[in-house]
Amino acid sequence: MSRIRARFWDPTGARYSIPTYPWQMAPAHLLTLRQLAARGLRPAGQGVQAQILWRSRRYGAPGVRASYLYDVRFALPKRTPTPAQLAALAKATAARRTCPDCRTDVGYVLPRHLGTCLDCAPGVAA
Ligand SMILES: [Zn+2]
Repeated sequence: MSRIRARFWDPTGARYSIPTYPWQMAPAHLLTLRQLAARGLRPAGQGVQAQILWRSRRYGAPGVRASYLYDVRFALPKRTPTPAQLAALAKATAARRTCPDCRTDVGYVLPRHLGTCLDCAPGVAA
C-alpha cells in the first residue's frame, strides 16, 4: 500500500471521524448515491456511513476530494411518484417555460434575469 493510500486508510474513523477508505478499497456494502440509484435504491434517511478520500490534481478542484458512502443494508427501494405528483411537476415546468408577455410556451426555461422569452426581452437579438 502506497503512502497516499495509507494516509486515507482509516476504517475505524479514528483519524477522520468517519470510516475512511482510499480509492477502490471500500467494502462492497458501502455505495455512493449514484451506485444506489443504479440499483434502484435510496439511502432512506441514513446519514453518511463512510467516505472515500483521494488526492486530485484536476484543474479547478485540486487537493483532497471526498465521496460519501451509504450502507446498502439500510437502503430502501426508490419511491415511484404518484400520477398527481407527476402532473404537478409537469405543471410547474410548463409554468417555467411560459412567457408572461406573449403567453406562449416557448419550449425552453425562461432565463430568470430576463423574466421573458428571448423574443420579448428588449436588447436581445434572436
Ligand atoms: Zn415572450
